[in-house]
Amino acid sequence: MFAYCANNPVNSSDLYGYRDKDDHKSWTKSTALQLDFWGSIPEKIGDGSRSVDIDMSTNPLRTLTKWKYNQRYHFNRKNFCDNVSNGEDTRLCYYSIYFDKAIAAKNSGDIDGAYDALGKAIHFMQDVFSHGEIGVNSSFASHVGQEGVDDPHYDWQSSQQISVYKVPSNYKLDDCPQGYGNRYRDTMFITAVALIAYQK
Ligand SMILES: [Zn+2]
Repeated sequence: MFAYCANNPVNSSDLYGYRDKDDHKSWTKSTALQLDFWGSIPEKIGDGSRSVDIDMSTNPLRTLTKWKYNQRYHFNRKNFCDNVSNGEDTRLCYYSIYFDKAIAAKNSGDIDGAYDALGKAIHFMQDVFSHGEIGVNSSFASHVGQEGVDDPHYDWQSSQQISVYKVPSNYKLDDCPQGYGNRYRDTMFITAVALIAYQK
């Protein structure tokens, strides 16, 4: 139902090791289109997803000085979801908060606000798969120097989700060789799950 490992070339990662900003938008928008969100709606939800990396209130680069506050939107920081220390994956926590915001906005007639919140919620969930458990036991999560570690086209080496398979130097993302693609499939699947939940 959902295409993967094809027609979706991934742009190069940035120096800080975070996912390219356009990926969240393209994953979200393309899935919304497949689920028959019409007109400008897929674009709006995609922009909401992308905005998490752009807005200074959630931008991961701000974590260089305030990691507790912004890394929690992209990485599992456990005890820093709205200052509640319950060990929950912060991204799942913020998914719930923002999905509820989206439904509340939808019910109040604020449709643009609903798509923005829905896109943001989807970003947090996508990052569960993009970033796995990287940095979960350290004070700062970083991918620097780990090519492909935050790229869901590459699969995790183990269930710990902190490193990826060694990727052949001539490997092209579109090739989708056997053994690769599970993480990307999961990313797209969870995106669809969130969009379908919103449609109900
Ligand atoms: Zn992110």
